[in-house]
Amino acid sequence: MTNTTRARKILKDCGAFKDGGHFVYSSGLHGDFYINKDALYTYPRKMDDICVMMTECASSVYGSSFDTILAPAISGVVIGQNIAYNLSIEEQLDFRFAYADKHPSNPYIRIIRRGYQSVIANKRVLLVDDVVTTGRTLIGMAQAVNALGGTVVGAVVICDRGTVRTLKYDIDTEPTPNYRQPLTLNITPLVELDLKTFKPEVCPFCKAGRPIDVDLGSGYISAEVL
Ligand SMILES: [Zn+2]
Repeated sequence: MTNTTRARKILKDCGAFKDGGHFVYSSGLHGDFYINKDALYTYPRKMDDICVMMTECASSVYGSSFDTILAPAISGVVIGQNIAYNLSIEEQLDFRFAYADKHPSNPYIRIIRRGYQSVIANKRVLLVDDVVTTGRTLIGMAQAVNALGGTVVGAVVICDRGTVRTLKYDIDTEPTPNYRQPLTLNITPLVELDLKTFKPEVCPFCKAGRPIDVDLGSGYISAEVL
């Protein structure tokens, strides 16, 4: 069984894959599939298995090009700490780990504080995260690393919910595809999913009268409006 197949099975077994529903994503689009990543964190052994696979992935794709790992708080801390530990044992080196906080007033900006600036400054850094949708969190972290003089070698994630594989970004601003000399961030997912999403006005599940799920995603907002 490949790591991709194993990872997909783990996500399914722990209830992280929800299909056959009617969900509203944070983008406002609708779909019948939802990744409830928080379900995975309630199974530490399964989480550990996922992290071992991510460690293998980091080693095989990025080799010895990095010695520091950065993850987004809160959930990414579990993954980043685990991978840095695995790599330290495997390579008999002390990999460093730090996490990036969310900016209090701008969710797209990530800040490195708590004294972690010296852990990241001028280092070669691998980013890790759980589920990537638009890649904004990864870009926020990459910008924070670059601002400290660090270099981002790439990213390893559990699951890619879109078709995001390569992101272009400017050091200081939001993603700008036409920026003259954008930096590139390559993303390696354990599991790739290309999910169909619909604008509400053409959503087949709305048309079929299927109730919107109010427990997962942003469907509760629709319920409040109603
Ligand atoms: Zn719908």
